[in-house]
Amino acid sequence: PTSFSYEFDTAVYKGKTSFPTGVFINNEFVDGADGGTIDVINPTNGSLITKVSEATAKDVDLAVEAAQKTFDAVWGLNTPGKDRTDLMNKLAVAMEACADELAALDALDNGKTFGWAKTMDVPLSIELIKYYAGWADKIHGKVVETSEDKFTYVRQEPIGVVGQIIPWNYPLMMMCMKIGPALATGNCIILKPSEFTPLSALKMCTLVKEAGFPPGVLNVLVGYGKTVGAAISSHKDIEKVAFTGSTVTGRSIMEAAAKSNLKNVTLELGGKSPNIIFNDADLQQAVDWSFFGIFWNHGQACIAGSRIFVQSGIYDKFLEKFTEKTKTIKLGDPFASGTYQGPQVSNIQHERILGYIKSGKEQGATVHYGGEPYNGDGYFVNPTIFVDTKPEMKIVQEEIFGPVCCVIKFEDEADDYTDVIKQANDTSKMVLPLLYLSSKLIRGVLCGLLVYGLGAAVFTKNLDRALKTAHKLKAGSLWVNAYSTVNASMPFGGYKQSGIGREYGEEALHNYLNVKAKPPMDGLRDP
Ligand code: NAD
Repeated sequence: PTSFSYEFDTAVYKGKTSFPTGVFINNEFVDGADGGTIDVINPTNGSLITKVSEATAKDVDLAVEAAQKTFDAVWGLNTPGKDRTDLMNKLAVAMEACADELAALDALDNGKTFGWAKTMDVPLSIELIKYYAGWADKIHGKVVETSEDKFTYVRQEPIGVVGQIIPWNYPLMMMCMKIGPALATGNCIILKPSEFTPLSALKMCTLVKEAGFPPGVLNVLVGYGKTVGAAISSHKDIEKVAFTGSTVTGRSIMEAAAKSNLKNVTLELGGKSPNIIFNDADLQQAVDWSFFGIFWNHGQACIAGSRIFVQSGIYDKFLEKFTEKTKTIKLGDPFASGTYQGPQVSNIQHERILGYIKSGKEQGATVHYGGEPYNGDGYFVNPTIFVDTKPEMKIVQEEIFGPVCCVIKFEDEADDYTDVIKQANDTSKMVLPLLYLSSKLIRGVLCGLLVYGLGAAVFTKNLDRALKTAHKLKAGSLWVNAYSTVNASMPFGGYKQSGIGREYGEEALHNYLNVKAKPPMDGLRDP
């Protein structure tokens, strides 16, 4: 199988890495069944970092077979929760021991800065594994009292072999948020990392083996969505699939699940999240969090606060300070000290974002800051602020997934803020199901319409206004005087087309458990 060795000699990190990059099945790295490879590209300069083995549908079959054997004979209900806790804690310790290496791998193939990866992605990933390690020995059923002489109870059982498909924006963290609850509940996993960012996932395979997980518990297959992703979603022996990525792909996964074995599906999809700043907000606080909300991770966040609604009384001052702060963003090598923003993950994303900037200009929005192509190599996009937008513009409606935001003025003096809440929640009312079924083209168009509900924020010093507004916003995560803070113990997911189900927190455990009821023996009547 392929392998990867690299010596980092950068301003912020010096260290070596070396690990096999084959298809990981049964705790071994092997060649993909079809013998192909995938090029992993450095987004900072477009050069080849390495080649990794490409998995295909045949490898999915092999992995599922291995996982099922392990589930039946070793893992699942055969391993006590306490042992799963111990193994997961060992994994967290192994991650801590190579935290910088993991951060460097995410920075290398994703383009995020080493500093962000080290201080945000890696600590949260470790926290997720520890958090779910804590749950593994606390998965309880319950006794239900039906009558004094009957013993009736509910068990929580692992599902079996589960599939997980993750994107490229937070490679390590997405992996940990997916495998954490699945391992804690005793499932065996077939995980497909993004073909753009497989390195930290492959390194994690070596740590999983080192921690002592039985072969077959975690299988990692780097491959393309159309092959490995599709094979996981339509596999007859995978009983659950969890996905994070675009709404378009989420739809095909759900369709494949429905057409195959009706597997259980959780989806964590896109967003176009509103961030509402009222006249009485603490200006600096609003500026700092709004800046973080849109520019963290180069705007490649499903919860990115890309529509910033600012009330008229504070609008000019906000825009001035927000722009001042945006001007401080230093683009450059993710491994150079002082870099705030590295390149976007791929040329596809780079072109896509530039397309949105062009459309904003063409549709008549004003570029307040940025907007020009980056002058240099790599997939960099200049941070861009649009003003004078209209609700129907593409840049206001669609997920851009880049460092581009719209700052939108609202007047709204009414007590209940009906207008801004309506704009924030704005959702197309088209006859979705009918049109959706009619053609793939229309499906593509529909996916572009604003039907999201992932995150939202409110900035105000008035508690009453904060809570009333927050409760009226249709979103899975709601921040008051903050933005984009996440915590392993807080559920995360979307309303509307931003997803189905919740990840993180206790909620995620239920994605991976089957409920078995043992009702009273006589039921409604004696036989
Ligand atoms: P994507 O949804 O195509 O890819 C995400 C994952 O799904 C990858 O592992 C990919 O290989 C896999 N995949 C692709 N097609 C598949 C299929 N038919 N069946 C099963 N799996 C499949 O996302 P993308 O093309 O990389 O990015 C496009 C847009 O998606 C972005 O611009 C952004 O708007 C959105 N996105 C959202 C998130 C998020 O966190 N919600 C993450 C990444 C991308």
